[in-house]
Amino acid sequence: MVKPFLSERMQGIERTLLRQINDQADSSCINLGLGEPSFPTPKSILNHLKQKVEDWNLGYSPNEGIQKLRKLIAEKSGLEVAADQICVTVGAEEALFTALMVIMNSGDEALIPNPGFPAYESIVKIAGGIAKSYQLYRENNFSLKYEHVKKNITKKTKAIILNSPNNPSGAVYSSEELMKLAKLLEKRSIIAISDEVYRDIYFEERPDSIANYVRNYLVVNSLSKSYSMTGWRLGWCIAPPELSKPLANFHQLAVACAPKISQKVALFALKGFAEKEKMHNIEELRRRRDLAMSCVEKYTDLEYVKPSGTFYMFIDVLSKIPKYGNSLEISLSLLSKEKVVTIPGLAFGKGGEGYLRISFASPPEQIEEGIRRIGHFFGVRPRKLQ
Ligand code: PLP
Repeated sequence: MVKPFLSERMQGIERTLLRQINDQADSSCINLGLGEPSFPTPKSILNHLKQKVEDWNLGYSPNEGIQKLRKLIAEKSGLEVAADQICVTVGAEEALFTALMVIMNSGDEALIPNPGFPAYESIVKIAGGIAKSYQLYRENNFSLKYEHVKKNITKKTKAIILNSPNNPSGAVYSSEELMKLAKLLEKRSIIAISDEVYRDIYFEERPDSIANYVRNYLVVNSLSKSYSMTGWRLGWCIAPPELSKPLANFHQLAVACAPKISQKVALFALKGFAEKEKMHNIEELRRRRDLAMSCVEKYTDLEYVKPSGTFYMFIDVLSKIPKYGNSLEISLSLLSKEKVVTIPGLAFGKGGEGYLRISFASPPEQIEEGIRRIGHFFGVRPRKLQ
């Protein structure tokens, strides 16, 4: 008998739709599908690296990360945590993976947002758990409502993943809803996993964190989005004291340590030396958001959800489905006919159906041309805006 090589845990785990769509795009396409800012790594960081790199010992670091960096992350977190509670990881992705591997038992449930970041479901499943979604609704601008989480909580609920500002909608969760939820999580001993990779990218009030209101949390963050440093693979996880050792043990077995060179530059960045460029880029993202919104109004007849954070915008194609097919079919047609990459809402769960996610992290001329092509695809003539 031939034994299958593939583990059961990996069965049904596919490359995400998001990746599949991006893989079909070539360099002639206008890409509004990107999950990263178009800005380069801040110059101050690169200069620091150039000046110092020859003096650095770039061997392994302690598994949990350079102590000074852990201390700095703890100080900057705004939480009452010690350096020992920080594990420096290979991006937020590894932080999520490590966190779920450490807390989930077979059959435990983890609540994930729908629509939400596609990796959550697969990671929960690989960690042996069951991913159950809580809906985020259009009538609330895809923001969190306590009641919609509450009704999905069962005896088996071990954790809930929260992501504010949210990928894909750009929604920011209100402090009021987070506080209500926090009470329930405390009562039911449910761990809050707060994915805060977009927390510094906001256009209104600074997004709150559930970690301000619960004792049991795992905060996940990285330099990827806020510092335009996706490829440096530098993130971290803040864990309660009783979980910090097991977290470091799993992390050691998986990756040994985060890239030391990235830890060295993270120390420089988090000390504040790249703050000016970071803030400048976030202001530029605000301009691009405003441009994207006015282009959708000018070139299309579609509605959109105004993003309060991130660099993503959900545009509503629900009314187009009868004629053009579901969000995946629309996205694929836009790619083949107009050479513009968008991500179908379906890629983020059933709750995203009827929407396309466009990224305004692309350069302004691409944002305008991409949205013009979307309007052209739907046969809409550009409008003059007042
Ligand atoms: N969490 C969310 C919500 C994301 O959108 C992403 C990347 O797109 C990640 C985590 C992973 O980030 P990192 O590059 O730090 O691994």
